[in-house]
Amino acid sequence: VPVIALVGRPNVGKSTLFNRLTKSRDALVAEIAGLTRDRKYGEGKVGDHPFIVIDTGGISGQEEGIDSAMAGQSFQAIQEADIVFFLVDVGAGITAGDRMIADHLRRNGKAAYLIANKIDGKNPDIVLGEFFELGMGEPLPIAAAHNRGISALIDYVMDELIEEEKVEQEETGYYYEEGEEEVHHEELDIKGIKIAVVGRPNVGKSTLVNRFLGEERVVVYDEAGTTRDSIYIPYERHGQEYTLIDTAGVRRRKNISEAAEKFSIIKTLQAIQDCNVCILVLDARTGIVEQDLHMLSFVLNSGRALVIAINKWDGMDADDKQRVKDEIDRRFDFLTFADMHFISALHGTGVGHLYESVDQAYESAMAKWQTNMLTRILEDAVAGHQPPILRGRRPKLRYAHQGGSNPPRIIVHGTMVNELPEDYRRYLANTFRRVLNISGTPIRFEFRQGD
Ligand code: GDP
Repeated sequence: VPVIALVGRPNVGKSTLFNRLTKSRDALVAEIAGLTRDRKYGEGKVGDHPFIVIDTGGISGQEEGIDSAMAGQSFQAIQEADIVFFLVDVGAGITAGDRMIADHLRRNGKAAYLIANKIDGKNPDIVLGEFFELGMGEPLPIAAAHNRGISALIDYVMDELIEEEKVEQEETGYYYEEGEEEVHHEELDIKGIKIAVVGRPNVGKSTLVNRFLGEERVVVYDEAGTTRDSIYIPYERHGQEYTLIDTAGVRRRKNISEAAEKFSIIKTLQAIQDCNVCILVLDARTGIVEQDLHMLSFVLNSGRALVIAINKWDGMDADDKQRVKDEIDRRFDFLTFADMHFISALHGTGVGHLYESVDQAYESAMAKWQTNMLTRILEDAVAGHQPPILRGRRPKLRYAHQGGSNPPRIIVHGTMVNELPEDYRRYLANTFRRVLNISGTPIRFEFRQGD
């Protein structure tokens, strides 16, 4: 998944662009104590192409105190990104700060696009000319606040990325013998159920991962890779194979410091995309905080199977336990499909039950069903409860087939299906879920209009 960093002076419109690109309220934040403008991470998508966007407070060009911490965040975001969107303000013209950022990007050698924001009603031919002087190529005009030029920008950048990918594949293909298959290094060892253990810092991910792997020491790997790439660790438990995606950094790569390896939002987001089952770890001692809910919403958007582990359950007194349970009931009442376990990663209590839920969620997420079986369930559901008459006609639901897995997608074909009311759709979804005995994974329902 490509990572795009938004950089530029404060107030050039980075946050507005971030909101346009990610179209969601949720963002994950890499916090630095005392700093209000932290690095913010969100996900976006163009067609079938997802990307990650990082927003930063900005580089003012006169870095002192809080400004220099903010600039540090920007430099870090540039490091983490594949592509940089360098924003300038058309109304303000080129400033010293812009020149400094352009210098940094040129020295850094990252692919950067110069984005001229706040074009508003201005004539690009007249106002963009001066920005060529930054030496960052052609300025791409947008008006983030008015949502203008943004889809053109994303299409343009994505086209280039896809083109690059193709060229890369052609180039690497050249080095392979005929008939020899290209095998990605990391795919070699992936066996069984791919698990991602995610959660904010200090909830106990490393402790849980070490519990899974049954050893305490940090192993240093001799594999190539960057801070951004997770290490994949295969292991076996009671005859079942698993591969753990190590977002917690309990295994380190040579030459990469522990601090850099420890908590990375990009690793977390990529691991969520890549896993079969995600274990979201919460901390019973602190309760649920905003960042937990944001992380949950990323998991829900991904459609991955999910098990919740409420950790540090040891040594809590009865009142505290009740308080945490009440809080979870209240704040997670919308989350109906995921199992929850109260565990102690430190002592190993509850871990066996956690695995039962992981195995069950995997089975549900990867299950394959025949079209005739799904169609029979659909027919029984309709016989039990007819769809309502719409505009004088009753919709006909003809058949259902499976469109994919992880998450399972069930596609219902028929007439007027696009007009089925929400409560009837929910009735169908619940029926399928119950009859197919699905738990631990969301199901996606799609309706296809036929005649
Ligand atoms: P991470 O940042 O999510 O990987 O968290 P760590 O695994 O490093 O744990 C953070 C701290 O919480 C450490 O001091 C752990 O010893 C402690 N911790 C982790 N799990 C438990 C638990 O189940 N019970 C208690 N009491 N402490 C725990």
